[in-house]
Amino acid sequence: MTYEEFTSSIENFSNYTQDIKPQSYFDFPLAPILEAETRLRNHNAKSIAYFSMEYGLSPSVYNTFSLNRPMSVKNQFFKHEVFSNFWLSDYVFRIDINKMLDIPIYSGGLGVLAGDTVKSIADLGLPVVAFGILWNKGYFKQNFWYKHGQVPEELSWDPHSYPGLIPLKNRVRINTKDGLLHLRLWKYYVYSYDKKNVCPLILLDSNVVENNERFRQLTDQLYRSDQVSWRIMQRSILGIGGMKAISELGFDINTYHLNEGHAAFALVEKYVQLKDKNQMELEKKKFVYTCHTPVAAGHDRFGIHDLDQIFLPEYLDPMKDLGKETKDSTDVNLTYICLNNCRRTNAVAQKHGEIMRLQFPDFAKRIDAITNGVHMHTWVSESYAQLFDKYGQAFADWRRQPKNLENVTRLANDQAFRKDLFDAHQGNKRNLFKVVKPWKLDENVLTVCWARRITGYKRPSLLFHHVDQLLDLAYKVGPLQIILAGKAHPNDNIGAAHIQDILNHIDQLNNHYDVIKVLILENYDTYFGKLLSNSVDIWLNNPLPPFEASGTSGMKAILNGVVQVSTLDGWVVEAANDDIGWIFGYEHHGPKIGSEQELRLDEDSAALYKVLKDAMTLYYQTNQQGVIDLKSSWIDKMIHCVRRAGFFNTQRMVEEYRDRMWK
Ligand SMILES: *Cc1c(COP(=O)(O)O)cnc(C)c1O
Repeated sequence: MTYEEFTSSIENFSNYTQDIKPQSYFDFPLAPILEAETRLRNHNAKSIAYFSMEYGLSPSVYNTFSLNRPMSVKNQFFKHEVFSNFWLSDYVFRIDINKMLDIPIYSGGLGVLAGDTVKSIADLGLPVVAFGILWNKGYFKQNFWYKHGQVPEELSWDPHSYPGLIPLKNRVRINTKDGLLHLRLWKYYVYSYDKKNVCPLILLDSNVVENNERFRQLTDQLYRSDQVSWRIMQRSILGIGGMKAISELGFDINTYHLNEGHAAFALVEKYVQLKDKNQMELEKKKFVYTCHTPVAAGHDRFGIHDLDQIFLPEYLDPMKDLGKETKDSTDVNLTYICLNNCRRTNAVAQKHGEIMRLQFPDFAKRIDAITNGVHMHTWVSESYAQLFDKYGQAFADWRRQPKNLENVTRLANDQAFRKDLFDAHQGNKRNLFKVVKPWKLDENVLTVCWARRITGYKRPSLLFHHVDQLLDLAYKVGPLQIILAGKAHPNDNIGAAHIQDILNHIDQLNNHYDVIKVLILENYDTYFGKLLSNSVDIWLNNPLPPFEASGTSGMKAILNGVVQVSTLDGWVVEAANDDIGWIFGYEHHGPKIGSEQELRLDEDSAALYKVLKDAMTLYYQTNQQGVIDLKSSWIDKMIHCVRRAGFFNTQRMVEEYRDRMWK
């Protein structure tokens, strides 16, 4: 593609002339874009289209584009409230961070994984184009209200002044019983760490004047779920609209990768597009599917009656053909569309593979497992990157070869390295404590973090299940600092109740701030995800096994030497024998999956306090008010964490996708 062809595809290019020039794209090199665009149109490149409902790209912390004109204030970040058991501070202070809003097209782990995946795709220079949706109102903005818990607020941002994002003149249309739905296409380019390659990301947007008011709102809020028709339409935009966008843009695609069942209608669109329907058996062989959902209830199912309200028979018939669970089902199940028709399927951790095979015995033989990872360049802290550079003989070329982090074992007995490793960690901890300065956290006090999506099976308040026991530990073994963060889906009442529960527990600890400081931060996002996972001493992960398909935040933590306290689930099963921290609580074994409702809070909180006591004891032997015992096995655990980060990264993961799914 030439520069002229590129710029002529942009809608209102005159707005972008300061940012897009023959050599540069928002101050990044333009050449890799033209190369990638050309390659995607070349049949011999055997390109891959990757579909995902959400992408957490975290430009606020990594590969930040610059904008040579004013950015709407809506795209700068807001202030964050803190709820703590030191409410005098909460009352007077906020966290005030001057940063860019993350492109708000994700809700949590699934999106962050998709974002990390496309970044590693770019790092490896693979011929892939990604498809998603431009969520005009993002997910939601979280407010905590005293005595109310979470109060969701609509988020607004401005895609027209978001650096790196450009609108195209191209449109695609989906035919419905309510008339044509028009979709505008946007582009965003995800660069490799060395800025030599890009992975283009195409975003579909229904907010165009050609549409009626209702259609215009379809791409407002990610996972809007108050009516089934919203859920159907959002998934249709991704699957059907995404496939149409491939034709509209002239890409030549060899493999279609459906990241989660949301994109299942891509198979339906493929069928509709075929002139000779007998070709479908061949075309199906081009589709692969990654399942992230550990429980049956999590899979999308739509009543045929509801689909019939929206679609003409041209679409409805293949939906029924491809996605009925049984002959006389009255539902179309998106997971079944994928399982029935894709060439390959994978689960996202080995344990999840085992669970999926139990759940779908008919497909067991075809279910592979590729363990998730995180994008090393995004999640490594500055101080750990410097550490790896300083010991470059051991870590040689770690930026290109994340696997080289495994060489940390060569340094395990090097006292200077052990000191530098611990010092780098303390530096990260100080950075975090500067952000929450008014709450007076102490770098020599053991700090635990629980930060993730707030939902039942993740057991957000397990640590507070018996507050008296937690207090007892703090008085007898040593002080504690606890930081929490997370969003509950706005319609998830149980999740919201958990937040309220946590706020109440924090209240209960009001008179004990000298031994236990508890902070909960508003609006957990990738910025906080990085800040917290880089910096605390213990990353707490306590889902009810076996319901955490993988989990990834702990992987961000181990990359930065942050020790784990975790139940045995998801990715942690694969690191259970590596001494990366402490494992506790209920374990899932055998052929029965069990119930997500049975949370085992009594047994598992007791088990948690027991390992926490061990961890606290070891920590205060290791760090005696800033005097560090370099021989401590705490530092061995930190080293083991870094070693395993050599495996739990998306570069290794994408290489496995390349070799096992896409070939
Ligand atoms: C990493 C990350 C997640 C995923 O965390 P899990 O451990 O999978 O629960 C969710 N949200 C944000 C903002 C993240 O950075």
